[in-house]
Amino acid sequence: MEKEEYSKEVRVIIAALKIGKPARVIAEELGLTVSTISTKLKSVGLTIKGVKRNLTQVIRNRIPFWLENAYTLEQVAEELDVTKEVISSALARQKLRLIGARDTSDALDVLTEQVLAHIFTKGGGITTALRAIGIAEDMLSGKSISVRERISSRGIDIEKFYYAFRRYGAWLTQPGLPEKRFVNDKLISCVCLKCGAGEQVLYTNLLSGNSQSCSACRTTAHHPTKIEETGELFKNLSAAIKSVGLSQHYQKARYHLRRKGICEIGGYTFVDMETQLEVA
Ligand SMILES: [Zn+2]
Repeated sequence: MEKEEYSKEVRVIIAALKIGKPARVIAEELGLTVSTISTKLKSVGLTIKGVKRNLTQVIRNRIPFWLENAYTLEQVAEELDVTKEVISSALARQKLRLIGARDTSDALDVLTEQVLAHIFTKGGGITTALRAIGIAEDMLSGKSISVRERISSRGIDIEKFYYAFRRYGAWLTQPGLPEKRFVNDKLISCVCLKCGAGEQVLYTNLLSGNSQSCSACRTTAHHPTKIEETGELFKNLSAAIKSVGLSQHYQKARYHLRRKGICEIGGYTFVDMETQLEVA
């Protein structure tokens, strides 16, 4: 009698696993633990993983019919008595798509353009873009496969945007393929937002915050600058040159100032007080 009850429970477990229900959920429903389920299956020579593989088989066998009859995700889920999420992740795992027609339609074109617009302005990859657009987590892998296909069929290279448009202090990363450096590092093209200078910066230094601007801007704070003609003293060249509206000449002024301690631009003479002191 007890034996009879026992095998019935195993049958329930097998049926649930076959349609793709996670063992954790089955355990919850039956008031058991996952390891009890595993033990019960082992007693009849089965494993959770072994039984689960049948969902793959069911889907493979049924998909031609579903496609032919334009089944929706909802209809398939109903047929197998599982949630839509179980079906969509099983399909994604097998790189199958339920409804070719629906996914290759205008909707996919629109989604692909949204993804590209995101990547070209904010950087990152397809999954990040899909997530930002608001695609649900369980749909991400499936959508990402079809969008990736669509992008590569258009011959568009998105790889060089992966690290682009990120802020690390005053650094803004630029599009471009990173150059490999050392064992696990790479050089990323960056622009310093304080002065506009471009530089290749080690990715680890960006992530750690060790590098937050170009080397010239890093030391700017220690270079009080005087304008000879007015006698005014500023905390750095940037402030001095801005006060007379000549910021566009900042890079040139800095170049000469760091070398000679003095430079003339637009009728003003900028004096680097620190360099002057060192010279004296
Ligand atoms: Zn800079």
